[in-house]
Amino acid sequence: MSKIEVFLTKEEEAEVVEAIRVAEQNTSGEIRVHIEKETSIAPIDRAVEVFHLLKMEHTKERNGVLIYVATQSRQFAICGDQGIHERVTYSFWDSTKEIMLNHFKNGKNKEALVDGIHQAGEQLKNYFPHQENDIDELSNEISKA
Ligand code: CA
Ligand code: CA
Repeated sequence: MSKIEVFLTKEEEAEVVEAIRVAEQNTSGEIRVHIEKETSIAPIDRAVEVFHLLKMEHTKERNGVLIYVATQSRQFAICGDQGIHERVTYSFWDSTKEIMLNHFKNGKNKEALVDGIHQAGEQLKNYFPHQENDIDELSNEISKA
């Protein structure tokens, strides 16, 4: 079994995808999760790379958010697109990261992601309320490498 399968069971993965779907019912922001084994560079730098690899800048309001996790490196980062960072300060994600870190420390990977997604959605909805005729611009499926 690979590390990624240990990191989240199939059932837990489904819960994470569902958390994204629910969060996106309150905001036009688009949340994605990317999970890989390790990173040799700072997690936030790798998150920015992955953000572009996944073409997450392809949103109308430039409000995509990537939650990046490197399982073996035991690192994670949150990367938002320019539409978000034009409106908020760099401490915007601090509360979300803190919630996630507490769960990760306790080995609760699924809870870290589900609660992180929920919190990110709550934060986003203040700046990017849900629109009628919303389009799911970025897939809710977990991206894995
Ligand atoms: Ca959407
Ligand atoms: Ca989506």
